[in-house]
Amino acid sequence: MSDGRTGVAILGSTGSVGENTLDVIARHPDRFHVVALGAHRNAEKLAAQALRFKVPYAALADVAAARRLEDQLRARGAQTRVLAGNGALEEIAALPEVDTVMAAIVGAAGLRSTLAAAQAGKRLLLANKESLVMAGPLLMQMVRSAGAMLLPIDSEHNAVFQCLPRDAAPGVAPPGVKRILLTASGGPFLDTDRARLAHVTPEEACAHPNWVMGRKISVDSATLMNKGLEFIEACLLFGVPPERVEVLIHRESIVHSLVEYVDGSVLAQLGAPDMRTPIAHALAWPERVSSGVQSLDLIKIGSLRFEAPDVRRFPALGLAQEAAREGGLRPASLNAANEVAVAAFLEGGLNFAQIPSVIESVMATTSGGEIRDLDDVLAADAEARARAAFYIRPRALHA
Ligand code: NDP
Repeated sequence: MSDGRTGVAILGSTGSVGENTLDVIARHPDRFHVVALGAHRNAEKLAAQALRFKVPYAALADVAAARRLEDQLRARGAQTRVLAGNGALEEIAALPEVDTVMAAIVGAAGLRSTLAAAQAGKRLLLANKESLVMAGPLLMQMVRSAGAMLLPIDSEHNAVFQCLPRDAAPGVAPPGVKRILLTASGGPFLDTDRARLAHVTPEEACAHPNWVMGRKISVDSATLMNKGLEFIEACLLFGVPPERVEVLIHRESIVHSLVEYVDGSVLAQLGAPDMRTPIAHALAWPERVSSGVQSLDLIKIGSLRFEAPDVRRFPALGLAQEAAREGGLRPASLNAANEVAVAAFLEGGLNFAQIPSVIESVMATTSGGEIRDLDDVLAADAEARARAAFYIRPRALHA
């Protein structure tokens, strides 16, 4: 921005990460300026955000919703320029007035706009882990060649980033790093017996014990697929092979992740489970700004526990680790199958325990291959979605 403030675009501004980002930005009007907001179809929320932050650009992927947004903004006399359609999100990600892009769209829908931000050489704040899981090598290559800066928003990867040397290059393991230890809360069903998992409801699955998040990531946390996606994400972001990433169940969600060095030192980042910490960290990096997050009261917390994950009860984690080892297009297939299965569960067309079974069936009947370009990724994604839909259709809910 010419006035010295950082120009920010928030893709997925109406979601949980998007709203937390606006909360942090609102605390620092002298430092950050919201240039653009983007979402899918929630015209009402986007209009309220655009009015509050006097945003120059607003985009909705859904064209009819964008028309409603335009009407609402004009009725209030706002000057905001409204863009519509999928390409609109890519357009706002690459605007010259934008320095920093928060990529917080959920799922594969965020892929193209995330890539557009990287290609435009922006400071990319990556919450949309699915885009990295799908097209990791392409995205990392784009970040490097465009000189973009990639800052992880997932609390675990943001924690790892904070524990690595400041000059670590994206996708390259810094010398001396032995292992990355990713923590996982374990979700709401950590102690639920296997037989009951077939009967849990979407509401129970979305009631995360420590974090308030969107519905898709909440279900992913409950199946442990979220940790599986994060496992793949860690390998790509930090350039470590799967055998050097370990998952630890940590019920309190206070230690957000750890890095072990060859000399035996283990560095960890701790904090209250509140996404405003990683968001504020990435917005201001390498400086620090306040986030509104309350101080950590370790005496009140008392003890921090760590356990091994049970991949027999939560097979989604094992499936993702397998896809990470296979690499290439396998993570894209896994991600697509998961998105379809989770959507079916949320709509009542699949029971919770069947989510990993559908993914397993898709993985058993699709092949991998190298990622040469975006078309390869989109083809693997489409094939896995079609297969997942095929496996879901004949299933009885409580089979
Ligand atoms: P939410 O479900 O709360 O929000 C999703 C956002 O994506 C909304 O703004 C939605 O717009 C937008 N969106 C959905 N589909 C499309 C589409 N087709 N085109 C354009 N925009 C779309 O998700 P979260 O904020 O929870 O998660 C966002 C991402 O961040 C996910 O990748 C998640 O894994 C990751 N993440 C989230 C964390 C959290 O605490 N919530 C923590 C770490 C990572 P609309 O409202 O109009 O539908």
